[in-house]
Amino acid sequence: MSAPAPEPVRALRAPDAVGSTRRIRGWVQRSRSSGGILFLQVRDRTGTVPVTVRKDAVGEAAFKAAEAVQIEGTVEIEGTVAEDRRAPGGRELKATAVSIIHAGEPFPIVPEQTEEFLLDHRHLTIRSQDLVATIRVKAALLAAFRAFFEREEVLEITPPILTGNPAEGGSEAFTIDYFGRPGYLSQTAQLYLEAMIAPHERVYAITPSFRAEKSRTPRHLTEFTHLEVELAWCDLDGIVAFIERMIVEVLRDVATRCPEELTRLGRPPEELTGLAAPFPRLAYEDAVARLKAEGLPVEWGSDLGTAEERALTIAATRPIFLTRFPREIKAFYMRQTPSDPRTVEAADLLAPEGYGEIVGASEREIDVGKLVERLRAIGADPAEYEWYLDLRRHGNVPHAGFGLGVERLLRWILRREHIRDTTPFPRTPSRHTP
Ligand code: ATP
Ligand code: MN
Repeated sequence: MSAPAPEPVRALRAPDAVGSTRRIRGWVQRSRSSGGILFLQVRDRTGTVPVTVRKDAVGEAAFKAAEAVQIEGTVEIEGTVAEDRRAPGGRELKATAVSIIHAGEPFPIVPEQTEEFLLDHRHLTIRSQDLVATIRVKAALLAAFRAFFEREEVLEITPPILTGNPAEGGSEAFTIDYFGRPGYLSQTAQLYLEAMIAPHERVYAITPSFRAEKSRTPRHLTEFTHLEVELAWCDLDGIVAFIERMIVEVLRDVATRCPEELTRLGRPPEELTGLAAPFPRLAYEDAVARLKAEGLPVEWGSDLGTAEERALTIAATRPIFLTRFPREIKAFYMRQTPSDPRTVEAADLLAPEGYGEIVGASEREIDVGKLVERLRAIGADPAEYEWYLDLRRHGNVPHAGFGLGVERLLRWILRREHIRDTTPFPRTPSRHTP
């Protein structure tokens, strides 16, 4: 009789698996040997299982080889499935045959290492259970967004990352040598999304965005996953309502896709399913008054940073929309408020519990003259934005959109202290390897 084919570890949990002979393969997470018995914990993408290897069952040579396998070494094991109430999946495997795929070298990651050492070895620490759970929640989040956009008939597009002019002003753009001419890594795909609404009306993109952020904060990466949406025939109230519905539905979906991972990472899934609309709205003007009353050094016109957003959201349990910002602190493409020339039709969504901004939204300026005026005011050359200004000359319609930082949202959902713990290979001012 030929050996059974390897199966995922989760197959051992089937009700009829007990007593049968099965084969698994994976990585050795723990190993301890005592008196002719070796206890292994074997992991694959579907779970972990304790494996008991007895010298008398597998033979002297195989036992010795198995004993020499290092942490994170790889093995293929055949054995008999038995009940084990203490094991996470309720099963253990009693080995009858062991083959070593790769014994490996001593694993460098051991308890009590410094943060720097762990970041230097990120290619190995991504195997830790918390990071594994985090990356799975991130994938679930992206899948939930895509499902939501499909329901809402918003089309996924693929904007360029290499661009000829910085979309958000030059100071935070990474420049590159583009065959002898200056090029920039995209800070936002928004201008391209705006171009795509004439043919498609409702579009989104999920792309990396790059910001040479000088500020070292626990919520800034130099490369992040940017989810951007642009909707034709939409104003500020329309885009705010869309974002609200999106956050409620997407978080509910994530809670059903990975309840175990969420629980493990300290966010009970009920907290996500329980999140209900409407989210409170707070005008920038009122936010400034509140912050002043709390003794923070802000005036009308100040940009609100990490400290201010923290103060505004630390006691909140639901996200807050901050609306109608001063024109000067916001991007050139935001629509001037018709009833108040000092402000723009913009809204930021701030995550509760002190986490702060996760979405920046606005209705877009559709008046070419005002766009040119704003470009000049920020020191940009309108000639370089000719193609963008063209959009206002051919089939101009009211429209609005937003950008959401996927890692920012994940940091709040998973209550991570630092944004780098929401992404496998974080990019920060001090690190772009491994
Ligand atoms: P902040 O004031 O926090 O730097 P921003 O105003 O520069 O944010 P936007 O230009 O509006 O941000 O970008 C849209 C969204 O992209 C933000 O709401 C945030 O979720 C995310 N984002 C922006 N910069 C970063 C960054 N450096 N790292 C991670 N996410 C970011
Ligand atoms: Mn920024």
